[in-house]
Amino acid sequence: MAANKKLLMLPGDGIGPEVMGEVKRIIGWMDKRRSVSFDVEMGLIGGAAYEAEGTPLSDKTMEKAMACDAVLLGAVGGPKWEKLPFKDQPERGLLRIRKDMELFANLRPAIVFDALAEASTLKTDLVKGLDIMIVRELTGGVYFGEPRGITTLPNGERQGVNTQVYTTSEIVRIGKIGFELAQKRKGQLMSVEKANVMESGVLWREEMIKLSAAYPNVTLNHMYADNCAMQLVRAPKQFDVIVTDNLFGDILSDCAAMLTGSLGMLPSASLGAADSSGRRKALYEPVHGSAPDIAGQHKANPLATILSYAMMLRYSFDMFEDADLIEKAIQNVLNAGIRTGDIMQPGATLVSTEQMGEAVIKELDKLAA
Ligand code: NAD
Repeated sequence: MAANKKLLMLPGDGIGPEVMGEVKRIIGWMDKRRSVSFDVEMGLIGGAAYEAEGTPLSDKTMEKAMACDAVLLGAVGGPKWEKLPFKDQPERGLLRIRKDMELFANLRPAIVFDALAEASTLKTDLVKGLDIMIVRELTGGVYFGEPRGITTLPNGERQGVNTQVYTTSEIVRIGKIGFELAQKRKGQLMSVEKANVMESGVLWREEMIKLSAAYPNVTLNHMYADNCAMQLVRAPKQFDVIVTDNLFGDILSDCAAMLTGSLGMLPSASLGAADSSGRRKALYEPVHGSAPDIAGQHKANPLATILSYAMMLRYSFDMFEDADLIEKAIQNVLNAGIRTGDIMQPGATLVSTEQMGEAVIKELDKLAA
């Protein structure tokens, strides 16, 4: 079987290598059992890269990232590197790879597995079966707009300024990602802005409406960001795909994440522009950090990283069946009461990182039999 997909794995620091080890096992299983094979390269990022190469992300690793079909990242950071100069800190590696790959779209699914519905702070019936996708614009808006800064006015008062700016091309490229995702899901797209009080929101809404003509099979609706925050905690299952700007997306994606109850279960993807063949640069990573408090103790939940890998299969390689299979295997493992410490519930069986990976493989074996 030929290796036909090029994947770069960057385990990083803390629990990063532990959770990535379980993804490697899933890749090994897929190599053996199914028609696809990955050409997997390994690389260093974060504190691990600083120790070995004197920088949190070397040019050599960056070249590898640009040459591959997708990057899967564990996590970076830890107390050992906190006092390094700013440029050497592990997080700089992460910021560089996101910037150099020009990843402008952040995808954060909020999925509630039935077995974990009670872990949510919301009533179980509100979140059971929840499956929403938040698409956040990542490289524009008020976090980057000019002018910005703190100045002193003639009257001696100080003034802090940030500017919300969006051009039509920035709105169109993130809008297209929202429509494309909705096409691959339930066909419902909610565009979120504050067109009632912001001109950038008016433009955002106009561009989304124009774009919708090219996606007749997607239903486009609009919502103000403040109402969206309320609706996410009132009736979150009304949403399929939400597309929004950098600032609102930052807040709404964290709000949606809390609906699911656990950091150890949350995957993410960041996508860049499509090349002439339609392939996008893409980085997949769990939402959690390097968890130094449990690193090396076999306690880390590998499911967020395994789910990030499933997202990669779905969004970089259109391997929907394989992604579904992995998600189904995880659902079955959770239904069987198998838990790492972070998602432990009364009466469930506490397992290690490796045992959780093993349990997913066993379910994959059963499902593929
Ligand atoms: P964190 O996400 O690492 O940990 C927060 C809490 O959640 C900890 O108690 C941790 O044990 C727990 N946790 C996280 N992931 C888990 C998992 N998979 N299984 C079980 N428990 C899990 O956030 P933090 O403590 O604020 O940051 C620790 C380090 O990670 C810092 O250096 C920070 O800069 C870095 N960080 C990196 C990323 C990234 O690489 N994308 C994201 C956030 C934080």
